[in-house]
Amino acid sequence: MKPTRRDLVAGSGALLAASTLSVPALLGQSRPRVVVVGGGPGGATAAKYLARDSQGGISVTLVEENETYQTCFHSNLYIGGFKRYDEIVHRYDTLASTYGIAIVRSRATQVDRDKSEVVLSDGRRLPYDRLVLSPGIDLNYDSVPGWSQAAEEMMPHGWKPGRQTQLIREKLDAVPDGGTIVMIAPPNPYRCPPGPYERASMFAHVLKETGRAKARIIILDPKESFSKQGVFMPDWERRYGAMIEWLGPKVHDGITSVDPKTGTVVTGFETYANCAFVNVIPAQMAGAIARDAGLAPADGYCTIDPATMKSVVDPTIVVLGDACQAGDMPKSAFSANSQAKVAAMILRGELVGAPTFPARYINTCWSMVDTDDAIKVGGRYEPRDGRIAAVETFISQPGESAEIRRQTQAENLAWYDAICADMFT
Ligand SMILES: Cc1cc2nc3c(=O)[nH]c(=O)nc-3n(C[C@H](O)[C@H](O)[C@H](O)COP(=O)(O)OP(=O)(O)OC[C@H]3O[C@@H](n4cnc5c(N)ncnc54)[C@H](O)[C@@H]3O)c2cc1C
Repeated sequence: MKPTRRDLVAGSGALLAASTLSVPALLGQSRPRVVVVGGGPGGATAAKYLARDSQGGISVTLVEENETYQTCFHSNLYIGGFKRYDEIVHRYDTLASTYGIAIVRSRATQVDRDKSEVVLSDGRRLPYDRLVLSPGIDLNYDSVPGWSQAAEEMMPHGWKPGRQTQLIREKLDAVPDGGTIVMIAPPNPYRCPPGPYERASMFAHVLKETGRAKARIIILDPKESFSKQGVFMPDWERRYGAMIEWLGPKVHDGITSVDPKTGTVVTGFETYANCAFVNVIPAQMAGAIARDAGLAPADGYCTIDPATMKSVVDPTIVVLGDACQAGDMPKSAFSANSQAKVAAMILRGELVGAPTFPARYINTCWSMVDTDDAIKVGGRYEPRDGRIAAVETFISQPGESAEIRRQTQAENLAWYDAICADMFT
């Protein structure tokens, strides 16, 4: 079934007023149809840039299962007490009222690639000329022995938005002075490479500020090294003394099991019993809709053409953000936003003859270490040798002045406001 007249009209009022398009043209088949699944940084940005820059020439439908979008980016600032929860929640109304995007609040359950239709959970079918998938990640609940979806309340991940983010903060608030937090970090590739380490910093910040500096945060990492490690580790020492301890796989010898009921974590070398709080961040993979469409291996990510962001399996489908393998680009909101602009430009070229130019991508990942103290890593990227390759990179240095760190945090806050405005308004 096609989107209802109501869906389309709900999204097209402001556009109608601002354009010369007739109602039949807005509702009809003459315009090429792009369906976008997922209203995060990849999907929302692509929908907006397709609708806005084609000036009504492309019919854009955004399928999103949630009414609002809570950003995982800056969720660590919420956990650290630097932002209120409502400051990281955003709405889709402006995308509908200003750009004429039809917002369909539903879960997409299947991509029928033979018929070029997206099937929704209520059975409706949305036909498309091009499909944009940006469903984010799914968690691999089998990747940590003893942990499961049923245990995610007791040992939260906080790696998907909503209640999980709030649970992390509640668990942190309940940690006693002298208590032990164990964080199990994820294997590569995963959403937001510096995210676990920023989160550990925020844990230490809150505990220290609230008179619980005897608490310990132990990070059990399956990786030999992590993003911005050379900056995080001296900063942890300087800011928090012995509160944060990072253990690589050779030191902890692997996670043998966790017991959510008793708060126990067993490694090859040690048993951490009666933990005040265990934060399990498991292995990750592309969101189900992309894997089920045959665009990625069962537990992996979608391979894309680096010049267009199109799936190498099906060139009528673009895959953005965390769900794709983007070469040297990390899985970040900034990356997803940058990829979406390239994809929207390419699709506008194909569908309405707009001019195109070679793909160029950018990203920066900021991480807060403490109050007025942030670090960053980032770069510029281009298609090279069949992949998205870094052509220029930068990273904060250990021992930078307090003023540089303050400026970096000011950039971080300004970036958040700017990218959210870019996505949702
Ligand atoms: C703790 C943490 C901190 C982070 N900090 C930063 C940071 O500082 N900077 C940064 O750039 N990035 C950061 N990130 C990473 C960032 O959040 C992700 O990279 C980004 O959200 C990816 O965008 P996306 O569009 O690919 O997916 P998502 O943001 O996950 O959006 C996917 C959307 O699709 C919807 N959806 C999924 N499947 C379906 C379906 N079948 N039908 C309908 N709707 C569907 C979901 O509801 C969701 O709204 C952080 C992540 C975490 C966890």
